[in-house]
Amino acid sequence: MRIAVLSDIHGNLPALEAVLASLAPFDAVWQLGDICGYGPQPNEVVARLAELGAIGVRGNHDAAALGELATETFNDDARAAVEWTAGRLEPAAQRWLAALPARLEVDGFTLVHGSPRDPTWEYVYSVPVARSNLSRFATDHCLVGHTHVPLIFREAVAHDGGARVETIAPDHRTALTLDARRSIANPGSVGQPRDGDRRASAMLLDTDGPTLEWRRIDYPIADVQRMMARARLPARLITRLQFGL
Ligand code: ZN
Repeated sequence: MRIAVLSDIHGNLPALEAVLASLAPFDAVWQLGDICGYGPQPNEVVARLAELGAIGVRGNHDAAALGELATETFNDDARAAVEWTAGRLEPAAQRWLAALPARLEVDGFTLVHGSPRDPTWEYVYSVPVARSNLSRFATDHCLVGHTHVPLIFREAVAHDGGARVETIAPDHRTALTLDARRSIANPGSVGQPRDGDRRASAMLLDTDGPTLEWRRIDYPIADVQRMMARARLPARLITRLQFGL
């Protein structure tokens, strides 16, 4: 089975459509949260995911837009975008988002937004954080989002025979075969990449390998920026899309 693994779409429908076109054909969509927030089309993105029968988890921006998470710890731009989103989410989108769990186990994978230890807030961005999270999920592999950076942490054996965790920063078309070594993989962000590459980032999981393949996909950034400007979303959120930062 071929599964499109998407995270941090953040209301960016043109990026989502470009990613779906690139990953097709696929049999299922798994999403890792932050469907809304920052971008100008939260309702349209939710409707598209619902139409595709996507399964997955909620992110901190989704919870905040539903009024289920306080926004004090969000920075000013993120909070402004959450408030904008909360004021526009239609009842059908609210219901769909509200039904998402914080954690999901499916076909030998654990899906969370942040980390298995703290699905809402923790960023798995370093080896120590990854290592301390490896004992916090029961499946062999875990899929996370939240950092907006494509990355995989994988158990490895050190030269002295001890355990260590290796990090691989995937590029476009990087493919890996998953094995018994436990891993935490991040597809990167569809709607707001932050690794210096402005192209949308996503992953294709083939459960027959199983293999993971990362993709970077161009999308019409200027169209999204125009919609954001019309919506009067914060200027810094509009600018950052063109730098991928
Ligand atoms: Zn996010």
